[in-house]
Amino acid sequence: MKDTLVLYPTLGKGHLNSMIELAKLILTQNPSFSITILILTPPNTTNNTSSTNTTTFGCESLPSITFHHIPPINLPTTLPPQVLPFELCHVSNNHVQHVLRSISKTSNLKGVILDFFNYSTTQITNNLEIPTYFYYTSGASTLAIMLKMPTIHQITTTSFKDNLNMHLRIPGLPKIPLVDMPEHTKDRESKSYRVFLDIATCMKDSDGIIINTFEAIEKRIIEAMNKGLVLSEGTTPPLFCIGPMVSNSTTSCEKDECGCLSWLNSQPSRSVVLLSFGSLGTFSRTQLKEIAIGLEKSGQRFLWVVRSKNELVERVNSEELSLDELLPEGFLERTKDKGMVVRNWAPQAAILSHDSVGGFVTHCGWNSVLEAVTFGVPMVAWPLYAEQKLNRMIMVEEMKVALKLNELEDGFVSGTELGDRVKELMESESGKEMRERIYKMKVSAKEAKGGGGSSLVDLKRLQDSWRDHASMHSLSPNS
Ligand code: UDP
Repeated sequence: MKDTLVLYPTLGKGHLNSMIELAKLILTQNPSFSITILILTPPNTTNNTSSTNTTTFGCESLPSITFHHIPPINLPTTLPPQVLPFELCHVSNNHVQHVLRSISKTSNLKGVILDFFNYSTTQITNNLEIPTYFYYTSGASTLAIMLKMPTIHQITTTSFKDNLNMHLRIPGLPKIPLVDMPEHTKDRESKSYRVFLDIATCMKDSDGIIINTFEAIEKRIIEAMNKGLVLSEGTTPPLFCIGPMVSNSTTSCEKDECGCLSWLNSQPSRSVVLLSFGSLGTFSRTQLKEIAIGLEKSGQRFLWVVRSKNELVERVNSEELSLDELLPEGFLERTKDKGMVVRNWAPQAAILSHDSVGGFVTHCGWNSVLEAVTFGVPMVAWPLYAEQKLNRMIMVEEMKVALKLNELEDGFVSGTELGDRVKELMESESGKEMRERIYKMKVSAKEAKGGGGSSLVDLKRLQDSWRDHASMHSLSPNS
């Protein structure tokens, strides 16, 4: 029977693409394996297999990867968006159980790898006695903080929200201001707080956590975790740092639908600042105007992916608001020789890999950070949601490859602040030092995934753990 793994990502490009890269990496080291990737369908839609076929993911040349589409599910439209992914997974579990049973009959199922949003599937995998791993698509630092949450919960009685001027201390990390903690961790009475405690507990109890990071960028915290300094003795699950995993799907880039890559071809080397804010980053019209003012003042070349907040609400006659309506009068005309503005989406990784790009204003999503590292582009850090303020702390204080953007309490950033930071990144001595530092990280990233590199060593340990599980299983009297 063929050795098989099942990978189960959550919805969302950052999570899905990263898991697919993990599948590809595993296959480079285990070409005889087959991998099934379970694909969730967004709730309350019809089956969308055509938009998530193998071509989309650049897997057409890898017949060992198959995609199993979980049938569409209707959920109450009143559910808050932050609980949707958990609920979607929960109600899909029966179907997943059926799939896992049927795969086990025809192949040697070595393990299931879950995104943490799909933690409730551990009920199924534990019942079926299938080795269960998590794939954490963010870094080791935020993972350490998350795994520490159940302990913090036990030793305190108050919520972070009532102590926002205090700090958390975790070995291997800088002092963590409680105000920078993700929103769902701040109120111990909230439902999402309880969910994250459950996730942390499930992850701690798993057969291992695969992390999209590598030793050279988070050395202190990885060491602290492996030495048992973060969690109490004997409770740290096996950790496998196998990154950086960066999506290299070229389908949309080859077409260069928005024309950014051909525009970049006409720009001087390392002269352009990219502004791009993940799959969910949006701004109010006031903030967009302020960004435009700052960019113009900075005098730098730029490539800006614009996505406005409440795009749907602000639509006039069902039409998207035009860039002229969103940006200051005359901005596009005045900056046409220096800048390019695209709507909603651009091939970010391909842009960062282009020689003309020399800086990146980012929302600090971990995939974006790893792409900047992989291509050696220093950053200005502008966190917007999820664990991004913690990522900023790591980028600015530990990795020292990003400048901190000073935002007001409500998150608003003035044009002057943005323009000053962009100019500092591109022209100052400290910007130059960051560029040199991230260039060294780019080299380390390559080494980590090359022969004898730290990420390949961890991948080998992961493979060994599958073998260990298999031999334990074959010793069991019930097997
Ligand atoms: N991305 C892209 N084009 C865009 C915006 C985002 O290709 O216009 C990609 C980006 O390269 C990254 C992913 O989407 O791979 C976003 O993941 P990240 O973890 O940075 O942020 P998230 O979207 O999860 O907040």
